[in-house]
Parts: sequence; structure tokens; C-alpha cells
Amino acid sequence: MRILLAVVASVAATLAFFDTATAQYANLISCLQGIQGNPKSYLTIPSSSTYNTDRLGYNVNFNYKPSALYHPATVDDAGAAIQCAAKYNISIAPRSGGHSFEGYGQGGRDGSLVIDVNQFQQFSMDAQTGVATIGAGTRLGPLYMRLWEAGQFLVPGGTCPSVGIGGIALGGGIGMVSRKYGALTNSIVGMEMLDATGTKRHISETSNPELFWALRGAGGGSFGLVTEFQIQAYKAPSAVTTMVYKYPLASYRAAMEGFTKFGRNAPNEFFGAMSVRSNEIELRVNYLSSASIANKTVAPMLARIGVKPLSSDVQEGSWIKAAAKWSGSTNPLDDPDLSVHRYHRGGSLVYRRLLSVTEMDTIFNNLNRRPAESASAYVIFEMWGGKMDRPPRRSPAAFDRHRGVVLGLDFGITWKDPTNQTGTQCAACLEWSAQFRKELYDAYDGGPQSLEAYQNYIEFDLPNWLEAYYGNGVSRLQQIKKDVDSNNLFTFPQSIPLP
Ligand SMILES: Cc1cc2nc3c(=O)[nH]c(=O)nc-3n(C[C@H](O)[C@H](O)[C@H](O)COP(=O)(O)OP(=O)(O)OC[C@H]3O[C@@H](n4cnc5c(N)ncnc54)[C@H](O)[C@@H]3O)c2cc1C
Repeated sequence: MRILLAVVASVAATLAFFDTATAQYANLISCLQGIQGNPKSYLTIPSSSTYNTDRLGYNVNFNYKPSALYHPATVDDAGAAIQCAAKYNISIAPRSGGHSFEGYGQGGRDGSLVIDVNQFQQFSMDAQTGVATIGAGTRLGPLYMRLWEAGQFLVPGGTCPSVGIGGIALGGGIGMVSRKYGALTNSIVGMEMLDATGTKRHISETSNPELFWALRGAGGGSFGLVTEFQIQAYKAPSAVTTMVYKYPLASYRAAMEGFTKFGRNAPNEFFGAMSVRSNEIELRVNYLSSASIANKTVAPMLARIGVKPLSSDVQEGSWIKAAAKWSGSTNPLDDPDLSVHRYHRGGSLVYRRLLSVTEMDTIFNNLNRRPAESASAYVIFEMWGGKMDRPPRRSPAAFDRHRGVVLGLDFGITWKDPTNQTGTQCAACLEWSAQFRKELYDAYDGGPQSLEAYQNYIEFDLPNWLEAYYGNGVSRLQQIKKDVDSNNLFTFPQSIPLP
């Protein structure tokens, strides 16, 4: 009898919770519908015909159902939406390009209000200072194109043209030119942000300096909604050389060792990424100079690897041609293919040393162990260092926790689902991923409690994730969180917690 009563009480409590939640969501939606704003601002709610497409992120391994998705056309409308969420205590998920590994652009759980900044597309360039003003909804491909057209400028950033500047810039931003110009976040000189009360704040070295420190490295989704970035851009070099070498998987030790030993001390003009999959190794180099200089510089790396590549492709051209090549897409940079989605489970580790032979064997053995017919596992080695250790702007940032890192590993597994259902899990793939990560964590110096990882490849299961991403900056970040968002409105499963 006692058990029955307990069950009844628990069901009643659950129903009461859902009733309250449903009423809260209904109130939120009517508040959002009441915003007398710009007619171009629009709202998607669960009953909208576009809801199931609008809520999708790049990674369709998740099936999160936001309470609503609001797409403001103006900063004032975005502020009004924040006030609605605050009034009904609904957590807010800012979304830019929707590429979070864990679906945090959708809130990382059901019920969040997604504020999508896709209509913030402003762009201008101050030719005197080289500072670009960039709307927070801009994706990388269009950004690279706009910078190029404004006078052949570039900013450091990633390769994928559909990644949004909102997430990548606030968490780091590493790509083809980062060893020359640092991570993207270190080139930010200012931001416009709406805080948890919907109030506008200018963030810079002198205005809200604590937020300026926190947002550059730990800003994605935890402190407020960034609506605009001011970023230092750089004149692109006159020639850029792209180099692609393919090696058989059997030569993995020689390839990993030769590449990383060379890359560690390479000139800053060099950026290299080696992608290892179950059927091949592809080594990509982006070199910021002519082909003759690039060839001469990387010759010792190829000699160190000592295995004849299966193929090689070296091309000299402009920066924008190189960016288009690394995008891996036939779409023009300013029109990235937004229909691409993946079932994906991934993460990262970063190292202040190179890998041991045992770690290389762990990678090889796991890639050889294919968990499902449609699964494709990968490990990408990226050489950090260069200007990433000495950012061009001296103002400290939360991202500086990673100074001294020499090697970044980005790894994961993708799979297909014939039914194309959102949220489809491949149990064998997830198991593969867990086992692989465990082996890497166990081999890490100090073990799983001492990991260091790159927050833009965010991973829910990462042990000690706060320290792994933010190091000894955690308590400072928590204090800033308390000062700017004491009700924890900007929250998701791995947001900066209150102290
Ligand atoms: C295919 C692919 C390729 C990638 N390549 C690279 C690469 O080459 N280099 C690299 O460094 N990283 C790379 N990444 C990782 C990428 O940087 C992160 O996933 C990044 O967070 C994505 O940003 P987003 O705006 O597209 O995603 P979203 O899901 O929209 O946002 C990610 C996080 O940032 C927050 N956020 C977004 N916009 C704002 C805003 N305006 N204000 C406040 N918070 C905001 C969100 O709430 C969320 O927590 C890649 C990811 C993918 C999936």
C-alpha cells in the first residue's frame, strides 16, 4: 500500500510539473507573440509546420525540442525575447550556426528558448584599422568571402563554411592560418552583447573587461547573447600553397611521428592537419607562401615520414582559393550547403607533448575496429603552437588556458540512418566512442582527472570537463557568471555553473 501511495504521489508530482511547465511555455509563447517589433522577426513554435526543420542542428544524433525558436531581426527584438524568457524562467540557448557537437545551439535539452541570430548579417570593414564588424549570425564561408572582397583580408578560423561565427569565435577558432595569427577569439577587439535582463552591453578591453576576458574562450551560451563582433582582420599573403598527401594506413606510425615532430617546430606560415580514418591517412598542409618555399620547407617532414605517399597534390593560389578548397564542398564559400547533417559523436584532447608509440597504436587499433557497416571513425591531428602561444593582441582571454599546447586531437564517429530520423542512436558506435575515449584518457598524463581539451569540440562525457576546458580560470568564470546572470538563464548541460 505504502509503495502504491508513493507511486501515486510521484505520478501526481510529475503531472503537476508538466502542467506548470506547459503553462510556462504557453505564457512564454504568448509573450514572444506579443513583441511589437520588426516585421522580419519571426517565431517558430511546436505547432509551426517548420518546427521540425528549424530545430535541427548539424548533428542530428539529438532530438531536442525547444519550447520555441525566435529569430530576431533587430537587437531590440532579441532583448524583448530575453525579457520574455526571464519573466517565465525559461532557459535561453543562443544559436548561430547550429554546429555544437552536443546540440547546445538547441539547448542540449528539451524546453529551452532558442534565440537564433541568423538575421544578424551586418558586415563592414574599417580599411584603416583592419577591424571588421560582423553580425553574429554570419557563417564562416560567407565571412571569408566578405573579408576577401573588402580588400583581400582574412581572419583565422575553421575550415567548415557552415559553422557559425557565434560558437566558433566564443570558444576559440582554430584553422588553416591559426599558427600565423592565433585563434580567432584572440583577434576579437569588441562585442555587442545582450545580458540576462535584455540590456545591451559593449564588451571590450575597457568596457566590461571581465566579460571581455570570459567571452573569449568560454563565451558560447553561458553569459549572454552576442549580437555583433568587432574582429581584427589581416591582409592575406599574396600566395598560399595547399598540399595534400595520402598515405596507406599501415604507415600510421611513420606518418604520425614524422608530421608531429616536424610540425611542432615548423614556421608559423605552416598549418597542418592529418586525418586518419579506417581506410587512409590524409595529410593537409596550408602554407602561407609560394609553392617553391612551401615545398622546400616541408621536404624534411616528408623525409622524416620516409614513406612514399600514395598521391600528392600541391597547388599555389590565393588565400580565398585555399579556403574554398579546405571547405571540402563544391558550393561557393558564400553559399554553404546548409542541408548537410550528420549523426555524430565526437570530442577532443589537447597535448603539451607529442604522442607515445602506445597512444599511436591505440588510435590505429581503434580505427581498425569498425563498429557498424555505415560507421566512419576519424582522428584528426592538428599542430597548435606558433602565434596561438603569443596572440597578436596582448589582452588576456579565458582561451589562454591552452597556451603551450602543441597538438590537438579531434576525434569522433559518424554513422548513417536509412530512415533519416532525428535522434537515431547507433549503440555500437557510441560504445566504440566510449571505449576509444577511455583508452586515450587512461593514457593521458595524470589520467582521466587531468585532461585538457578544446571546448569547441565540446563533449558531455568528458571527465573533469570544467577544468579540462577552462583550467584555473573556472572560479573566475563562475564569479562573472554570478555577476551577469545570477538566475542562470543562459544555461545548458555544460554551461559555466554559478559558484
Ligand atoms: C563540421 C564541423 C567542422 C568544424 N570545424 C572546426 C574547425 O575547423 N575549427 C574549429 O575551431 N572548430 C571547428 N568546429 C567546432 C565549432 O567551432 C563548434 O562546434 C562551434 O561551437 C560551432 O558554432 P556554431 O555557432 O555553428 O554552433 P551553435 O550550435 O549555434 O553554437 C555553439 C555554442 O555557442 C553558443 N552560441 C552560438 N551563438 C552565440 C551567440 N551569438 N552568443 C552567445 N553564445 C552563442 C551556443 O549557445 C552553443 O552553446 C567544427 C564543428 C563541426 C560540426
